[in-house]
Amino acid sequence: RRLDSRSGLPAGLLSDIQTPISTEPLESVYEITGELGRGKFAVVKRCVEKSSGKVFAAKFLRKRRRGRDCRSEVIHEMAVLEMSHNNNRVVNLHAAHETDHDIVLILEYAAGGEIFDHCVSDELLPEAQITRLIRQTLEGVHNLHQSNLVHLDLKPQNILLTGLSPLGDIKIVDFGLARRLGAVGELREILGTPEYVAPEVLNYEPITTATDLWSVGVIAYMLVTGESPFVGDDKQETYLNVSQVNVDYSRENFSMVSELAVDFIRKLLVKAPEDRPSAAECMSHPWLWQLCLSPDLTAPTRPVRERSCGIKWAAPPEDPEDKE
Ligand code: ADP
Ligand code: MG
Repeated sequence: RRLDSRSGLPAGLLSDIQTPISTEPLESVYEITGELGRGKFAVVKRCVEKSSGKVFAAKFLRKRRRGRDCRSEVIHEMAVLEMSHNNNRVVNLHAAHETDHDIVLILEYAAGGEIFDHCVSDELLPEAQITRLIRQTLEGVHNLHQSNLVHLDLKPQNILLTGLSPLGDIKIVDFGLARRLGAVGELREILGTPEYVAPEVLNYEPITTATDLWSVGVIAYMLVTGESPFVGDDKQETYLNVSQVNVDYSRENFSMVSELAVDFIRKLLVKAPEDRPSAAECMSHPWLWQLCLSPDLTAPTRPVRERSCGIKWAAPPEDPEDKE
């Protein structure tokens, strides 16, 4: 591990937090009402704040992992969430508590679950919904990148929804692997889940904001096809598929998918990070706007106008090629 000479922390870790870490017993403030998910070092539970009746998600992060003190990693995750406080595509940090073994992050609750459920379901989402979710994801990613933050673990399990019916807005979660770029030179680390991670990460090459855009390509692929583009029978095969960018665009998977969707995904799943469009450049891809620009105002899938995130995007193209 490379350490930052000033802070003594691993490269890219933040240590400044504003949210106090309360030692008041969790049970006196919240009622735990069930489990929402779990990962390698965290359990996330649904909880209700007793004073307000409001629902939150409590992420229990172990302070010691594999015999090592990981408090600084948890503080870092809090610091990234705080930096993203004004990014309304990122889940909000409400409070933090400390127990014997854990630091517990009290997070805004995303009631609609993971978009992963819509990647593996028999019934995929209509493309107009998919483009809406991808636009929102790009807004969130763009805002992170504006703050020199990279997420590095974008995958369908870490993009949640505020509601299910009607389908809500996205919230990006899980900033455990997120890093701040720039301050300490190059960032190279083996991180993330091989299935969703860009070739430069697997090859131990420099990580940039383009690394997140690869993952957006994987997420878009999964939402439109219901298949994970690089997953192999084992880790080795997955690594090989990613580093050779071995992607199946055959009609078998894409029979119901528009040409513009394929074009969007092809532009992101490219080996050289510098050849991938930025989040802002992606936002002007015609796929993301084709159904908004549809002259048929009665189309049932026509998306409603979204609340603005305050980002000024390049005007969407006026004349999408793919009109039938
Ligand atoms: P890990 O680092 O262990 O992957 P995550 O932060 O990704 O932890 O949380 C694990 C799972 O818990 C998520 O994939 C999601 O299903 C659920 N979850 C996390 N945060 C929330 C939240 N704010 N609202 C609802 N569910 C959540
Ligand atoms: Mg996760």
